Amino acid sequence: MPVEFRRYTVASRISPPDAGGAERVQEIEYRRDPLTGRWCRINIERAKRPKQTPGEALTLKELAEKTRKNCPFCPENIEVSTPTFTLLPYKRLRSGECWVFPNLYPFAKHHAVTVFTPEHYKPLENITPEELRDGINSSLQYLRDLKAVDRAARYPVLAWNNLPPAGASIIHPHFQVLADERPPSAVHQEIEASELYAASGGCYWQDLLESEEKRGERFVKDSNVVAWITGFTPLGNREVLAIFKGKSSLSSLSPGDVEEFAEDLAALLKYYSSSGVVSLNMLFYSGPMDIDISRSFYLHARIVARPAPTALYVNDDGFLEKLCAEPVIDMTPEDLSGALRKYLG
Ligand SMILES: [Zn+2]
Repeated sequence: MPVEFRRYTVASRISPPDAGGAERVQEIEYRRDPLTGRWCRINIERAKRPKQTPGEALTLKELAEKTRKNCPFCPENIEVSTPTFTLLPYKRLRSGECWVFPNLYPFAKHHAVTVFTPEHYKPLENITPEELRDGINSSLQYLRDLKAVDRAARYPVLAWNNLPPAGASIIHPHFQVLADERPPSAVHQEIEASELYAASGGCYWQDLLESEEKRGERFVKDSNVVAWITGFTPLGNREVLAIFKGKSSLSSLSPGDVEEFAEDLAALLKYYSSSGVVSLNMLFYSGPMDIDISRSFYLHARIVARPAPTALYVNDDGFLEKLCAEPVIDMTPEDLSGALRKYLG
């Protein structure tokens, strides 16, 4: 069944201060998410907004130098400055250059941190597929070990806040791994909507991929297990989706699946970097670890760009995003897809 992509455009008419009283029109496109019904808005003019902040990019290097010495995630501190597990057969999980240990300030029943590089600060373009692969594999190992001691914590989360504008309090690159008895609200909403869709026949995610591939405008790449598209209704700027075909949970990923994903994720990071993006959020929307729900729901990672951390940067979460849950986007998913194809090709 083809997926229906609903959108409409409104014209906003104003006279800007430099137009000498003449009217100018900006187009705002409203898009409805075909699965959940949530809305977003796109106005590509917003990318040109002047921002009242010191423009020069950065202080990032300065920040890296200042925070390097007392960083709890740097190799010389990690074993003295990070907490240890009490429920698992090890204090911390170490695999090569990766470390998994508990979050000192958890917001889930099980909440760990995965440090996937010994380097304190790494620009996105320098993060390697191997680091991403090993970081994800170590996180999955932690989830598997956890399953043996707490079966009730069925819903896993693997996420990444890169740099302070994305919510990271520590700049040393790290993933976060959570396991809880219920999924986060957005994951729950997607699983429920997928089940509802499946009740009337078909799998939404399979239909989505078929529809997107046929249309081509947001389709980036199809590999063995992972298909990459840009989101029709983005939750953030430069949103990219990696959809794991026929897999519903993080726990169903094989080392080969992770390798394939990590390779293309590193390519996406290179694209982000080339377009000035240094900060991002990533989340795996995963079904439960103990039941295969791939008949209705496919595991997917959603990645969005966040503002660059210049001093006193302008945040991208205004009232529409934070309080209305209706993001405003400044680049069309179709243009993004075109740019990305050159990197993931
Ligand atoms: Zn560090």
